[in-house]
Amino acid sequence: MNLPAARTSTLDLIGKTPLVLLEGPSAAAGCEIWGKCEFLNPGASVKDRAALWIIRDAERSGALKPGGTIVEGTAGNTGIGIALVANALGYKSIIVMPETQSREKMDTLRALGAELVTVPAAPYSNPGHFVHTSRRLAEETEGAIWANQFDNIANRRAHIESTAPEIWDQMDGRISGFTCAAGTGGTFAGVGLGLKERDEAITIALTDPHGAALFNYYAHGELKAEGSSVAEGIGQGRITANLDGAPVDTQFRISDEAGMEWVARLLKEEGLCLGLSSGINVAGAVELGRKLGPNSRVVTILCDTGFRYLSTLYNREWLESKGLTVFDWLR
Ligand code: PMP
Repeated sequence: MNLPAARTSTLDLIGKTPLVLLEGPSAAAGCEIWGKCEFLNPGASVKDRAALWIIRDAERSGALKPGGTIVEGTAGNTGIGIALVANALGYKSIIVMPETQSREKMDTLRALGAELVTVPAAPYSNPGHFVHTSRRLAEETEGAIWANQFDNIANRRAHIESTAPEIWDQMDGRISGFTCAAGTGGTFAGVGLGLKERDEAITIALTDPHGAALFNYYAHGELKAEGSSVAEGIGQGRITANLDGAPVDTQFRISDEAGMEWVARLLKEEGLCLGLSSGINVAGAVELGRKLGPNSRVVTILCDTGFRYLSTLYNREWLESKGLTVFDWLR
């Protein structure tokens, strides 16, 4: 039996997630499309890895002292990861979130014991933006550090040191391409750098949602956003420190409709309940697979669980209010 090893610490449950072959996407692409099951992390998202690396880095540097507080601005998943890791290590957590994120994430953060601060959604240039609010709160709070996931490269180091080598080993070093979308860019840049270290020939593709500026940046050198997206956790308008120097061979722009089609199909045909960033990643992986051709093997990230979006992606009224197709079984 090839079972996961017994662990002596709950923190060791973060990472070492399985890869799964996705049948529908593979058939659509005409090659193998594999998904890294990040929804199986203890906090049910890819962001547990960044939370652990950021906190361990702050301990090593001496910035975070025993009993201290971690403050972060987040679309939710990083906050959930931070709250769990903070609990396990005896720290407090204060999480700042835009009001537009799903109710489930807010309820979860409160349930985990994080102090939750919500702010109105605002552009990054606005001092009230959740990132700036979290930085100020960290400065004002005794014994607190600011996790700063966008520009703290301990975030992408999590993926250079864990996600990328895991994917490499799980695929026995035979990978043609990797793609995912960027929020902070930690996952995209970290996995991209980690895989390129092992094999320069692996094609690294950015999958960008509408409303983000990175597609235009990598395609035409101009940070310009077009359209909009309801996907939570992805869609970046600037080159964060985590994105700086990311290896980008090609890029795709994926609509919410295309991502939602995979969210629906992966649930009904393969029994995977995922969030929209996963659907967008899979749509991008299918594009990359078509580009790389038969016999290629493409890997993407299944970022978080769909159970986090029961009031949005899996809710008829919400889907109608956003002009998105309502899944047949919700009608
Ligand atoms: N999907 C979801 C649901 C997320 O919460 C995040 C984190 N912002 C991402 C994807 C993107 O991850 P990263 O921050 O590493 O770019």
